[in-house]
Amino acid sequence: MSEITYQNYIDNTFVGSDSLIEVYNPADAALLARVPDASGEQVGRAIAAARKAQRGWAAKPAIERAGYLRQIARKVRDNAERLARIITREQGKVPALALVEVNFTADYLDYMAEWARRLEGEVLTSDRVNEHIFLLRKPLGVVAGILPWNFPFFLIARKMAPALITGNTIVIKPSEETPINCFEFAKLVAETDLPPGVFNVVSGTGAGAGSVLTSHAGIDLISFTGSVGTGSRIMAAAAPNITKLNLELGGKAPAIVLADADLELAVTAITASRVINTGQVCNCAERVYVERKVADQFIDKIASAMAATRYGDPSVDNDLDMGPLINQAGLDKVAQMVKTAIGHGAQVITGGSVADKGKGFHYQPTVLAGCSADMEIMRKEIFGPVLPIQIVEDLDEAIALANDSDYGLTSSIYTRSLGAALKASREIDFGETYVNRENFEAMQGFHAGTRKSGIGGADGKHGLYEFTHTHVVYMQA
Ligand code: NAD
Repeated sequence: MSEITYQNYIDNTFVGSDSLIEVYNPADAALLARVPDASGEQVGRAIAAARKAQRGWAAKPAIERAGYLRQIARKVRDNAERLARIITREQGKVPALALVEVNFTADYLDYMAEWARRLEGEVLTSDRVNEHIFLLRKPLGVVAGILPWNFPFFLIARKMAPALITGNTIVIKPSEETPINCFEFAKLVAETDLPPGVFNVVSGTGAGAGSVLTSHAGIDLISFTGSVGTGSRIMAAAAPNITKLNLELGGKAPAIVLADADLELAVTAITASRVINTGQVCNCAERVYVERKVADQFIDKIASAMAATRYGDPSVDNDLDMGPLINQAGLDKVAQMVKTAIGHGAQVITGGSVADKGKGFHYQPTVLAGCSADMEIMRKEIFGPVLPIQIVEDLDEAIALANDSDYGLTSSIYTRSLGAALKASREIDFGETYVNRENFEAMQGFHAGTRKSGIGGADGKHGLYEFTHTHVVYMQA
């Protein structure tokens, strides 16, 4: 990829900006591109374009709106290899995972398009004669989609597809760490005949373009994926306008490994959780509670699996398991958390240091044993290839520790006992629980968290309806 300057996409036109942000490859710190640091005036223009387009867009039959999503999905598939290479260079994930992300994005657009003939209202019985009560599902209006950097391409579709199929228009702001793939997506959208103003992209910082979007009276729904701290700031910014919120925030997923578990399966799935996307995944296992009887065996096996991880620069070597962390701040945070845990008594079984891999932000795959509930590393999101492990006496203790968290996104349990699996699904207070499988959600499910992990959710029917409001009509006729 040669170093180029991208432009905001507003009302089907690419428009430049005086102020620019530089985007770097996290594997070797090379400059990749410059993108707009959109001004308040530009963000306002994008919102106005989306507003102007919205009624006409909503008036189209849903099946026609679905046709545009399918056109875009085809373009994404036709460009899959190229887009995956861009994501690898910009975000640092390995090529195979980048390709999975691109193809999953196309599938997601097609999946949401399928809802066109399935969007339903209700007809209710009235207490009055000659009256029908119609419950209509209507679009909210203009959606602001604010994206993180960890699955930057997929998140475009997760916001855009449900918004557009239900008749909303959208202004997307990608993360300032990973905006290139979003502008490449916008270029593909520009090749279709999607009407002007329906899909807009403005890039910029959170404090700049982000806060203009979230405090703007012209936005009807803020659909945000990112950290808890930013989610909280967005709630405050949305408060004066009482703007509806959909918040997909951080996680600290517990994995419970019972003595009767298939240990090979647990080791494979939990290792994948810490290695995939370099451990920078909201839904992946971030802390393990293992029953004492199998603890030594489990720790040995998972330390060997983590130590065997092949990592480095994924834009140079195609055949790696893991790339770098996203930036210096991410690397510093992981290094500091490990250091603090060691200071409080955690034992390094493997890894434990910044990796010497040139200029990028690489950290060694790390396993920490001897962790306890009061340690920061068992309570705060790590977002790196580090696995802290605590030994427990039984399932009750594991569930109590799992639930004692600010977060409530995903969780998992490994056991051959149906009774234990059912007890965990009854008593674990999380939005998702994976039983005897890796942490990875399905697009027809509902990805949502309890506690500080968010408000509302994404995917499936329930995620789709978050982009609508209900309008009740009392019809005397
Ligand atoms: P972040 O909160 O730093 O940034 C996310 C986005 O918010 C960026 O586009 C940023 O520019 C913008 N932003 C920052 N401050 C803002 C403000 N004041 N107003 C408006 N916008 C603002 O998050 P990140 O580091 O990009 O992503 C990692 C986080 O995302 C992790 O905590 C991870 O768990 C979470 N995440 C959650 C899910 C989920 O589905 N629950 C999925 C992916 C990532």
